[in-house]
Parts: sequence; structure tokens; C-alpha cells
Amino acid sequence: MVNRVIKSDEEWRRILTEEQFYVMRLKGAERAYTGAYWNHFEDGVYHCAACGLPLFSSERKFASQTGWPSFDGPVNSAHVYTETESVGGKTSTEAICHRCSSHLGHVFNDGPHPSGLRYCINSVALKFERRSTNEPAPVVNQSECLIME
Ligand SMILES: [Zn+2]
Repeated sequence: MVNRVIKSDEEWRRILTEEQFYVMRLKGAERAYTGAYWNHFEDGVYHCAACGLPLFSSERKFASQTGWPSFDGPVNSAHVYTETESVGGKTSTEAICHRCSSHLGHVFNDGPHPSGLRYCINSVALKFERRSTNEPAPVVNQSECLIME
């Protein structure tokens, strides 16, 4: 279980930068090719910029050429949840931090094998931590791939 973090907009405004607040609390999007991580391929873990929960890891990051950091799944399926909404006949699936309910980006069905998913995430919603050489890689949780099949 993940302990939830619940804060008012007022509190989030104090913690987050203006751009983080716009993306993470108002469901905005950073411009493609402008974020810190779209072309970033170091070994480590990407945490939620608002609450610090580990969300994605370099093992599941791939070069999507979209201008946003892209992953074929979260580091733990309990840390990121998705919500699908339909607006005017167009459906979109939102990726949300499970701990603080911050908007992270969107999920698309054109990702690489085996999950077939592409988590298209705003760099500004992430905080990268490099893995030290003596730290083992996290166990990649593939269970959400099975649900998709
Ligand atoms: Zn969070």
C-alpha cells in the first residue's frame, strides 16, 4: 500500500515551481523537446517531483522520439494509476502518481514489446536519482503487462 499525500492547491503552490504546478496539478504539458529527461539515459530511478515516490526506472525507458521521456511501464504498477476519459469521441489515458494524485502525462498503446504501452511523461513531473554502482537494479514489475493481454 502507498500512503496518500493530500494537499491543497495553496500548499502545492508553495512546494512546486510554477511549471510543475501547471503540469502536475492543472494537467498541463511541457513543450516537446524542452524537458530535462526526454533525451536522458542514465542508470537510475525517476521519482515523483511532488512527493518523491519512485515512479519509473531507466530499465524501462526507451527513445520514443516524441520529445518527452517515455517508459513502457512504471517501476511498480502500484505507484502509477491511470484514468481513461472520453472527450468528444477521443479517449485519452492519464498517468497519475498514486501517492499524491499528481498528473504525470499520458499512456498510449503504441509502445514497444512486451507491454505495448508508452508512458509519455513530462520531465518536469520527475526527479531523477542516479543509481550508485553498488545498488542493485529494482525488480521490474511486469504484472500490468499481463493485465493488458
Ligand atoms: Zn507523487
